[in-house]
Amino acid sequence: MHPSQIEHYLTQLLPALGINKQRELVRLLYEIAKRDQLPPSEILPVQKNLTFERAKKILLQKRYPVNFKTARKDQFYLPKLELDPAQEADLTPRPFFPKTVYIETSVKDTPLAQRVRAAFPQAEFKETDGKTQVGSPYFSNRLDTLFIHREKYDFLKPCPCSCGSAGCGYNLINLGFGCRFECEYCFLQQYQNLHAVLLPANVDEFLAKIDGAKFRCGPFDRPRIGSGEFTDSLVFDDLTQYSAQLVPFFRARPHLQFEFKTKSVNIGGLLQAGGCENVVVSWSVNAAPITNLAEHFTPGLTARLQAACEVARAGYRLGFHFDPVVIYNGYQQDYARTVEEMAATLPHDKIAWISVGTLRFSRELKKAIETRFVHNTILDGEFLLDFDGKMRYSPAQRQEVYQFLVPLLRKTFPKAVVYLCMEDPQIAAQF
Ligand code: SF4
Repeated sequence: MHPSQIEHYLTQLLPALGINKQRELVRLLYEIAKRDQLPPSEILPVQKNLTFERAKKILLQKRYPVNFKTARKDQFYLPKLELDPAQEADLTPRPFFPKTVYIETSVKDTPLAQRVRAAFPQAEFKETDGKTQVGSPYFSNRLDTLFIHREKYDFLKPCPCSCGSAGCGYNLINLGFGCRFECEYCFLQQYQNLHAVLLPANVDEFLAKIDGAKFRCGPFDRPRIGSGEFTDSLVFDDLTQYSAQLVPFFRARPHLQFEFKTKSVNIGGLLQAGGCENVVVSWSVNAAPITNLAEHFTPGLTARLQAACEVARAGYRLGFHFDPVVIYNGYQQDYARTVEEMAATLPHDKIAWISVGTLRFSRELKKAIETRFVHNTILDGEFLLDFDGKMRYSPAQRQEVYQFLVPLLRKTFPKAVVYLCMEDPQIAAQF
């Protein structure tokens, strides 16, 4: 349903509406029409003495059938609907082949720069002092530009988690920015303002910051450090070969744990580097409909689990992240099937941890998702403004997810640490 059709219908139904009131009703009608595949005339039929207040109440009840009675009015977020076709995601499958590669002068002779030159002979190469603005105006074109650079500041930091959430003591090294997958919920589409793939060539300088650094442990026996905040940890590993540097480094430091977080099956580098007990390779897993419909270009669950078995056989430990869990009709059966497939496939004693987190996003990310993926279904749930300013399912809906999934995972994988990610401390304490 195009927003202009909804606007037209509303203008006929309630001709005297001001801009703000019309904006709220257009948003509600649009979201209901998209979710229920109904025309606006069936959602809000012509009726006598209809006022804005009455229309809004009817639409809120239809849009939030579970939470309408219990949510506060200020938890409904009804911004102007601004869909921009120029921003839509390009879902045509294509290999990663940047058109332009920028290489910062200070790293032009590094092995990474040399590998990149050999891998993309048809790309245009440009040397830069690192201050040039690179990348496309559109996030969807980010794969056209690759930037090999020397990271100067952002080496090692505690995971920022979410304001007011129960933290898990995670620590981050940001080896890269940008990803070739297109997960509809990915925060990078709103967060990444430099629309290119950035890969640092000075991993040795990242690693030099680790010895002597103070780390938090959270609920784990050893500090955990990971690399997958602003990219997928392995999606470019055949090119970067970061695993060849990281695995031996952490093998020599058994008091630390390093985590590669991925959805890819790009495990050749890990297999070559040999196994390592304190390196955990973790996969994000989901219900099949979410993987198939909302994690574009990623390998399916079966392929991810096969890759997990291979790295476990090589001597790595495994992690899994049920994140983001999405609520829809029948979601419990689908997530239970994913747990079943994991139980039947994986070596249970190799699983170090499993996290669970429900879908959440900032207000800005909601707008990015709806304009980049106009046919998404992940936004059809009932999201309310929550304790940290993000949009989440209501506490009762989140608790329903955790009451179902956390005991199931603990029963199926009794040796793994199962914990909640970025959750309200009061809810996290119950699990
Ligand atoms: S794999 Fe991770 S970084 Fe890549 S698009 Fe999906 S959510 Fe974003």
